[in-house]
Amino acid sequence: MTDSRRHAEISGGGFAGLTAATALAQRGWSVRLHERASELRAEGAGIVLWNNSLQVLDAIGATPDLDARSMTPPAYETRMNNVIQSQETLEGIRWRTMTRPHLHQTLLTAARESGVEIVADSAVTGATPEGTVTFANGETAQADLVIGADGVGSAVRDSLKIPLKRERSRDGITRFLVPRKKAELQALEPDTEWDNVIDFWNLDPRVLRVLYTPANDEELYIALMSPSADADGSRVPIDLELWTSIFPQLAPVLEEAAGVQGRYYGYQTTRLDRWTEGRVALIGDSAHAMCPALAQGAGTAMQNAWTLAVAATEAADDELPGALQEWERLERPYTDRAQDRSQWYADTREMANGNQFTGESVETALYNPTDPKRHEVHAA
Ligand SMILES: Cc1cc2nc3c(=O)[nH]c(=O)nc-3n(C[C@H](O)[C@H](O)[C@H](O)COP(=O)(O)OP(=O)(O)OC[C@H]3O[C@@H](n4cnc5c(N)ncnc54)[C@H](O)[C@@H]3O)c2cc1C
Repeated sequence: MTDSRRHAEISGGGFAGLTAATALAQRGWSVRLHERASELRAEGAGIVLWNNSLQVLDAIGATPDLDARSMTPPAYETRMNNVIQSQETLEGIRWRTMTRPHLHQTLLTAARESGVEIVADSAVTGATPEGTVTFANGETAQADLVIGADGVGSAVRDSLKIPLKRERSRDGITRFLVPRKKAELQALEPDTEWDNVIDFWNLDPRVLRVLYTPANDEELYIALMSPSADADGSRVPIDLELWTSIFPQLAPVLEEAAGVQGRYYGYQTTRLDRWTEGRVALIGDSAHAMCPALAQGAGTAMQNAWTLAVAATEAADDELPGALQEWERLERPYTDRAQDRSQWYADTREMANGNQFTGESVETALYNPTDPKRHEVHAA
C-alpha cells in the first residue's frame, strides 16, 4: 500500500529540526529527519528557555518530560564587581533552566513517539526549490516539504545560494556543565541565594563575566565570557588563576571547569535575504543565528519550527511555496527584532547594568507562537 501522507525531509537533528519533525508528524505528515553525526546528541552545556518555546513544548506534549529535570530559579540576579545591581523575580514571565542534553533528549523522545523516522550518519548536501534532497552518499529523495535545520553552516541554505550577512561580535563564551557544589559556595558566601541565576560582570580592570545558571539540583551551567582579543581570558582549558582572581567566590566550580577542555565560541549573527525557496524552508541557526545575550537562539528556532509546521499543514500542496513565504512574512519580524536586540546587548554590554527584563527586551520571551490569534493581539 502506498503512503498517501504528505512527506517532509528534514536536515539536522538539533532543537529546530526535532521540533519541526515532531510538530509535522503529529499533524499527519510522514517525516524523515537526517543527522550528519553518528548519534543524536546535544553539544554544549546548559540553556534557558522562555514562554515562546515552553508553549511549543506544551503543544507537542513534551512538558512533563522537560519539567522532570529542569527548574525555574527564584530570581535572575545581576552583579557588577560582585555588587548586586538587580534581583529580578520575573513575575509573569515563564522561564526554565536545564541542561542541553536534557532538552535534546526530551525533543528526541517526542519525535520518536510521534513516528518520525530518524537517520543518523546521514549528511545532506543540498536541496532544490522543487523539493529534491541530495545526500553525501549520492542518493536523492523527493519531498513535499524540505526543512533546512542544519545549523549555522547549513548545506541546504548554501546549496540554494541564498545571500546572507554575517556579523561577528568582539566577545565570546566558553560553556561548562559542572556539579552544583552548593554547600561549598554557601560556605564562601553564606548570604547568597545560590539557586538564583547570577550574572557576575566585571568590566574593570578586565572584561570578564561568569553567567552562573543552576540547571537542576545536581548540575550547574557556567558560561565564561571574555573578548576574543583577550588571549588568556578566551583560552581553553581555562586559565584558573585568572578566573579565580576575579571571581574568588566561584572557586569551587571554576576548579571543576578547569578540568574540562571546553571550546570558546565567538558570538555571531546571521541574517538571510529570505528563509524560503520554493518547497524549502530554513529554521534555527541556519536561518537566524544570533548572539546569546537574550538567550533566544533555540527559543526562536523552536517557535519558528512550530509555526512552520502549522502553516505548511494548513496549505494545499500546490500552494505550499506561497504559504511558506507568508509564514516568513508573519513570523520573521519577531526573530529579526530578537536578533537586533541580542546584537545590541552584545555590542554595548548593557546587561551589566541589571534590570534587563522589561519592555522590548522581553517581547520574544513573552510571545506565544501557539496562539492562533497572536497576530491580531500583537497588531492591536
Ligand atoms: C554560548 C551560547 C549560549 C546559548 N544560550 C542559549 C540559551 O540560553 N537559550 C536559547 O534559546 N539559545 C541559546 N543559544 C542558541 C542556541 O544554542 C542555538 O540557537 C540552537 O542550538 C540552534 O539550534 P539548531 O537546531 O538551529 O542548530 P544546531 O543546534 O546547530 O543543530 C543543527 C544540527 O544539524 C546537524 N547538521 C549540520 N549539517 C548537517 C548536514 N549537512 N546534514 C545533516 N545534518 C547536519 C548538526 O550535526 C546538528 O545536530 C546559545 C548559543 C550559544 C553559542
